[in-house]
Amino acid sequence: MNADMQRAGAILTIDLDAVRDNHRLLRARTGGAVCAAVMKADAYGLGAQQVAPVLANDGCRHFFVAHLDEGIRLRAVLPPDAEVFVLHGPPVGAEREFVAHNLIPVLNSLQQTTAWSALARQMNARLPALLQVDTGMSRMGMPDEEIDVLLPDAEILAPLELRYLMSHLACAEVQDHPMNAAQLRKFHAIRARFPAMPACLANSSGIFLGPDYHFDLVRPGAALYGIAPVAGMANPMRSVVRLQGKIIQTRTIRQGDYVGYGISYSATGTRDIATVAVGYADGWLRAMSNRGAGFIDGVRVPFVGTVSMDSITLDVTGIDKAKLAAGALVDLICPEHPVDAVAALAGSIGYEILTSLGRRYHREYLAPQDDLPQAASNRTALRAA
Ligand SMILES: *Cc1c(COP(=O)(O)O)cnc(C)c1O
Repeated sequence: MNADMQRAGAILTIDLDAVRDNHRLLRARTGGAVCAAVMKADAYGLGAQQVAPVLANDGCRHFFVAHLDEGIRLRAVLPPDAEVFVLHGPPVGAEREFVAHNLIPVLNSLQQTTAWSALARQMNARLPALLQVDTGMSRMGMPDEEIDVLLPDAEILAPLELRYLMSHLACAEVQDHPMNAAQLRKFHAIRARFPAMPACLANSSGIFLGPDYHFDLVRPGAALYGIAPVAGMANPMRSVVRLQGKIIQTRTIRQGDYVGYGISYSATGTRDIATVAVGYADGWLRAMSNRGAGFIDGVRVPFVGTVSMDSITLDVTGIDKAKLAAGALVDLICPEHPVDAVAALAGSIGYEILTSLGRRYHREYLAPQDDLPQAASNRTALRAA
């Protein structure tokens, strides 16, 4: 354990080799379609600055973020021929920033499309964009009424270089959900109004709905980071994240003793209680009070009592005392307890667990082996800057 690991309350290990393998697996499943990578929310909390170059080295050239500022930061670590698409489109008045930073907006509304087109006219240039249409989610993208206004308006369309017609699926992780086919039908109907324009529909789960959903470009995020893409099926993705919390102290309590704020737990017999230095301020949601679990050498140790801001308390009765000393590690995300299982206990989804991962963890990045100058036999840890 190095000095930074020694002082931290928890160690978050991010396996970049697994991210790259996951991208390769998704690519292999999408046939002729191009496989992009979604990097929004700092690569789902894992670090876009670390993740993106690994995928770029492996040939990925299409990246999505949500916000302009995410795009600007991502652009700085990508090769010049990589394309960065910004899902939220240009904020009102910030259109020129997209040109300055070589970012391609997703145009979600008539307002965004008109503003982007006006800038193109002013610059006497054709500006690239993706055009998002709404196929049933009512969140982002043009509704039919706006498409009806846009299509006959050559003034708006002429200066735009529309790369892809795009939409987003609402229920793709549930394979037999009728909404999937309904959105696909709607997407085909809208595509017929934009002849010959390439198309982009699938997120991670959409890829697993099969080739009808792939079109020309797919946009996986969650599956890259190890989240299961298909509800109720074995997860084909490699796990990416391991979180190990550190024991601060351990004590033995007797029948009737309480644990934690609000004394929501009382012991029914003699129990050993370990306090671990991870709490809700680190994204370990309070909803896991009396429900969450850790693992010590593969043995489940349940959370007891309420999750505090900076700590949790676990029932470690029966665990070998040598594994409970101050500084010993308890797995909070591990192969026995993957991020989807953590989420289920918190009444949440893997996406929320990852994007909530705290800023106080010590982060270790495992580099892909053949990205290193010399292939060594041991996996090599890159320390986060
Ligand atoms: C977040 C997002 C994605 C990626 O979805 P995953 O389920 O994480 O694969 C794709 N498209 C849009 C529009 C998104 O907002």
